[in-house]
Amino acid sequence: MEIIIIASFVLGILILHKPVAFLFNKIYIKQQFRKFLSSETFYHSVVSSHVKYYNRLGLEDQRKFLFRTFLFKKAKRFHYIEVQESAEMPILVSAVAVQLTFGLEKFMLNYFSDIFILRDDYHYGFYSRPFMGHVDQSGIYLSWDNFIKGLSGQMPDCNIGLHEMGHALAYVNFITATEEDKNFIKEFPKFSKVAKPIFSGMQLGNKNLLGDYAATNYHEFWAVAVEMFFESPVRFKHELPELYQSMTRVLNQDPLSALKGKLTIIRRSAERETEGNNSKKKAII
Ligand SMILES: [Zn+2]
Repeated sequence: MEIIIIASFVLGILILHKPVAFLFNKIYIKQQFRKFLSSETFYHSVVSSHVKYYNRLGLEDQRKFLFRTFLFKKAKRFHYIEVQESAEMPILVSAVAVQLTFGLEKFMLNYFSDIFILRDDYHYGFYSRPFMGHVDQSGIYLSWDNFIKGLSGQMPDCNIGLHEMGHALAYVNFITATEEDKNFIKEFPKFSKVAKPIFSGMQLGNKNLLGDYAATNYHEFWAVAVEMFFESPVRFKHELPELYQSMTRVLNQDPLSALKGKLTIIRRSAERETEGNNSKKKAII
């Protein structure tokens, strides 16, 4: 008898685990959204004065962008190394992560709890050249000096924030497999089908807009492609149209839609496809 009770209890937990977790998450998101509303104006002023991408979004996308930024920032511990901390820093770093994953369902880069902000170029490990940023199992590292130059467009085609978040996104999906996004996982092999021949050509000496650094290894190819996708989408689409298209699919967004004044930058909303009329409320995050 006892065995039957225990077995039914375990079975009940197994069956109810998902809906209960979903319900708790829904309540949590609602609570956080209320908190977010009181700081929305501040978030808007910080993000709109630095992130071009945000300014091109429609109003609905802008709110979703800021709320995701709020959630991302809240979930991370920021460490400041030899740099004066400011209220803008964690918001802008979070905003850049959100930009990259804006078309995806999973955007927390959850393996990484710690983000380290350093003053400028630094030395890491046994490498002789200085680093602008890197990602390893201990966290995401960014040099503030280079991060802000990338955001302001002082270094053309260069955005160290997007570059490192590109590494982090691949890390959580493929290395730790702790936050697998359905679309990203499904589309990445198709992206690689187009990308690998281009990458191999570059290793043999072919030149294109991605530059020599992208030929270092396939991880760098991906991270540089991410930077170029957002920083120079017109040139990217013109020079490497097939690769550009596969980037729009793997990230489920097209930066050129915003330039053309379309309502949303997202290619297709998974929620809208599956949830039908409930989509409006769900679209908050
Ligand atoms: Zn890199």
